[in-house]
Amino acid sequence: MTDFAARIARAAADAADAGLAGVLAAPGPDLLYLTGYTPNAVTERLTVLVVTPGREPVLVLPTFERGDAEGADVSFLEWTDGEDPYAAAAALLEPGRYAISDACWALHVVALQEAGAALTSMTASLPLLRAVKDADELAALTAAGAAADATFADVLELRFSGRREVDVSADVARLLLEHGHARADFAIVGSGPNGANPHHGAGERVIEPGDAVVLDFGGTLDGYGSDTTRTVHVGEPSEEHLRVHEVVRAAQQAGFEAVRPGAACQDVDRAARAVIADAGYGDRFTHRTGHGIGVTGHEPPYIIEGETQPLVEGMCFSIEPGVYVPGEFGVRIEDIVCVTDSGGRRLNDSPREPRVVA
Ligand code: ZN
Ligand code: ZN
Ligand code: ZN
Repeated sequence: MTDFAARIARAAADAADAGLAGVLAAPGPDLLYLTGYTPNAVTERLTVLVVTPGREPVLVLPTFERGDAEGADVSFLEWTDGEDPYAAAAALLEPGRYAISDACWALHVVALQEAGAALTSMTASLPLLRAVKDADELAALTAAGAAADATFADVLELRFSGRREVDVSADVARLLLEHGHARADFAIVGSGPNGANPHHGAGERVIEPGDAVVLDFGGTLDGYGSDTTRTVHVGEPSEEHLRVHEVVRAAQQAGFEAVRPGAACQDVDRAARAVIADAGYGDRFTHRTGHGIGVTGHEPPYIIEGETQPLVEGMCFSIEPGVYVPGEFGVRIEDIVCVTDSGGRRLNDSPREPRVVA
């Protein structure tokens, strides 16, 4: 059983440490993380959890959603249509600023401010609210990673040559579900020149022999996401493809080896980037090295130059260097890695070496 009370207590303590009066968690990842509750629909009707150090947490919500929220271990402040929920919520606040969820609609943020609330953004003031994973979360992320690896083992058996990217993508999504994901979230298939676009989805291009194909896919299992990338080669890869593949593999390994508690996020980025720069492809690695993952697919900590945040045991994030040669091909390799007491543990362990597909 998830200890939501412990999470709320930690959020309150973190807010106090940051000099804030508290936290306002809106429907979305923060409310889900703190209470296990997520409304059926996020709407123009205000729902917000008020967390103030030393006080009972209070969930402000429409009366008719009270039944759905029954499982949340908080007190409730119901409001009915015609009443002013913003005045009611603002009356609960202590003097000082509250960190409000990034996912809260501007409609609600502005109205809360007009009712007298002083607000700041959650990511700006409490970026690590969800960054350090507890044992339940690590188990869920580990299971999601294993399901993604099992997916990739089957992907290697798929036919690529002569098929469109969208058809291979549909197969990858189906395999994500077959291997235990409740939902397939994305299945990028970037073949040939499309692989040089890091966020290419999947298109009409027909895959050809000689293509490198970037496969970046993930789904959700028990509320937590998988996200892994492998680059496969259709038929025998060219020498250039093999050379670049090895550079990216070595960069990914170097990033992994830089993971330990106390190292800065940017140290992981630098370690991966140095390998690619030394090989002469520095200007072809055009994005950060990684992002945190949890109840959302992209969240702090970000593995990027300038991020001096020290790594803490229990953080989980991607290490996903790539090299992109415009008009020709791309190679990316991505694993989710968890910080342990002594280093890093990969939650993905599919082969990172070049694999030939049909
Ligand atoms: Zn992304
Ligand atoms: Zn990815
Ligand atoms: Zn990723």
